[in-house]
Amino acid sequence: MQTGPRPADFADVRATNLAVVLRYVRANAPCSRADIAASTGLNKATVSSLVADLIDRRLLRETGLTEHRIGRPATMLVLDGSPYAAVGLEVNADHLTAVAIDLAGNRLLSWRRSFAGATATPRKAIAAIAGVARKAVARIGGEGKQVLGLTVGVPGLVDAKGTVRLALNLGWRDVDLQDGLTQALGAPDYPVAVENDANLAAMAEYRYGPYAGTPNLVHLTGDLGIGAGIVVDGRLLRGGQGFPGEIGHVRVAETGPECTCGRRGCLESVAGIAALIRSVAPDALADGPLTDLEPEVDEVVRRARAEEPAVLAALAEIGTHLGHGAAILANLVNPEVVVLGGYFARLAPWLLPRAEAELLYRTIAPDSGGCRLVVSELAGDAAAVGAAARALDSVDAGDLPRLAV
Ligand SMILES: [Zn+2]
Repeated sequence: MQTGPRPADFADVRATNLAVVLRYVRANAPCSRADIAASTGLNKATVSSLVADLIDRRLLRETGLTEHRIGRPATMLVLDGSPYAAVGLEVNADHLTAVAIDLAGNRLLSWRRSFAGATATPRKAIAAIAGVARKAVARIGGEGKQVLGLTVGVPGLVDAKGTVRLALNLGWRDVDLQDGLTQALGAPDYPVAVENDANLAAMAEYRYGPYAGTPNLVHLTGDLGIGAGIVVDGRLLRGGQGFPGEIGHVRVAETGPECTCGRRGCLESVAGIAALIRSVAPDALADGPLTDLEPEVDEVVRRARAEEPAVLAALAEIGTHLGHGAAILANLVNPEVVVLGGYFARLAPWLLPRAEAELLYRTIAPDSGGCRLVVSELAGDAAAVGAAARALDSVDAGDLPRLAV
């Protein structure tokens, strides 16, 4: 199978038209060939030929249902895509998440594996990530699916070559993750990519979340670090070198603690999960860095439900800082929604009241410029879902797969 961007294909009018038809059906299914022709301006013979090609590639299928309009019955078309899938991995300080999704949007697998991200050397980390990726690819290959791509999300600055320039919570600097993984996987016939986790989470929300298609959307990762994936006018904001959205290192507390970046009072130093645990369960940090955050968050939820005053006060303070961070985003990019991901999603009932008040107070536009704070339904694996979606998005963009024979 040939994969990856092929510039000649993008220049090809037919490939462009195939993508136009595919996107139309994604948005309007079930629909007929005549609907496609009427809405895209392509003539009926061309649409029939494009649809035949897409059915051949099993990207579309006929439903068997027909709709009687004026005159002849029309056969209705829907998306297929079930033979194709992509794998997404998310690297965290304490665990790896893997998901696989087919082009029809079905989740094929969801794994969580413990991972010593904060203490492993990059070499060991690459071996561990490659191990999980290999198993996930083998699993979906065994189910007869063709793999369109593997993308790995990392909490840090990732450049265009897939090099992790800086990932503070993993202790990584200049790790050639994309090259390292490609080698470890034996130069596979599907593309391997590496991307910032917040960007991927925003892409997941934009494609699959309840606010899918919202043109101005931000996803905030809530983990050890806090990053913003920013969609503006329907496009992911990439900036000059691919490093926007580092809201976690904007100073929000004048007298705040030292951050992992060496500065003081950064948003993640006062609202990241380590700050929360330091404040409500200092004993948990007595034995060194946390190796599994999930049980700690479970405990905070339990104590918040029991209305322990110290826990409620800590959550209210984090909510205030979070609202401050959201207001910075609202003042700069005026999003319609800021989606709270990661552990923020589980703690949202206690964070939201103060966060919403702070957002309103600090945003210059009336009513926070229409910005709403909402809770991610993808939460824990948004970045992994977005990582899988990245390869699937390339199909919508015109890089159409053909079934291997
Ligand atoms: Zn910082």
